[in-house]
Amino acid sequence: MLLSTTVTFAAEELVVYSARNEQLIKPLFDAYTAETGTAIKFITDKEGPLLERLKAEGKNTPADMLITVDAGNLWLAAKEGVLAKVNSKTLKANIPAYLRDPDNRWFGLSVRARTIVYSTARVKPADLSTYEALGDASWKGRLCLRTSKKVYNQSLVAMMIARHGEAKTEEIVKSWVANLATDVFPDDTKLMEAIAAGQCDVGIVNTYYYGRLMMKQPESLLALFWPNQQDRGVHVNVSGAGVTAHSKHRAAAVKFLEWLSSKKAQNLFADENMEYPANPKFKPHAGVAAWGTFKPDTINVSKAGSLQAKAVMLMDRAGYK
Ligand code: FE
Repeated sequence: MLLSTTVTFAAEELVVYSARNEQLIKPLFDAYTAETGTAIKFITDKEGPLLERLKAEGKNTPADMLITVDAGNLWLAAKEGVLAKVNSKTLKANIPAYLRDPDNRWFGLSVRARTIVYSTARVKPADLSTYEALGDASWKGRLCLRTSKKVYNQSLVAMMIARHGEAKTEEIVKSWVANLATDVFPDDTKLMEAIAAGQCDVGIVNTYYYGRLMMKQPESLLALFWPNQQDRGVHVNVSGAGVTAHSKHRAAAVKFLEWLSSKKAQNLFADENMEYPANPKFKPHAGVAAWGTFKPDTINVSKAGSLQAKAVMLMDRAGYK
């Protein structure tokens, strides 16, 4: 007589929509499939089109998970109703509260700091202190900024509104604009190249762009500075993920999300892009750790979303292009 034991192979398949590119996510997906047997199909696109697609597909979406960058984008996806609440003890234990949605619809998985970069040829670290102080007269004609159209800067200013209120933040942003050496830059890399080339002396960039540039051009006379260590801390943001509101494989999707907060995935997720693991139990890659440790601003990153519209209008009023 045969025992009627049913062996359930994890033949399930998950579909991920990802605003992170294939090179960053494929190794993760392959590792998960190897470990669990769950196959992962994915498409990659910019965050805007992915959100539009999820909204248009509604209940019929094949997507089980959305992976994207910046809390501003994650917040918007949640607001548009495309993400499900996930009550997971594992995720709550693994991801610090300030790096996830207070309503549990998305979770930060890697952390990037948006910090000060400076010319080691023309600036001493002792000259630097805070983001706010980049508006001081001593930086007149020496500051470079990326465009205010980029969500990273909208999040940075949104967090300043959360900390200082709108009136003071507007004064600060105006003081930055008054110190600009040149027009705003389309991306962080061009900004750093301008500092290296002597066009300006300081700027604000995401840490991983600095890491990439220094890998390519290690001779660049650039260094990172961790501002606001005596007060609110360095502005950090996340890349993260949420389970879609209309996932047909909810339990499997939650399991995968939990796995993404575990050791193996955290290091794969962070190291590949020179970011910091969101789970504080795990150390960053040695190359990233070499930039030193810093105190992050632990205000909930969802503020980047809820204050984004105010930030955009404020930057416009302040003449920040
Ligand atoms: Fe980026």
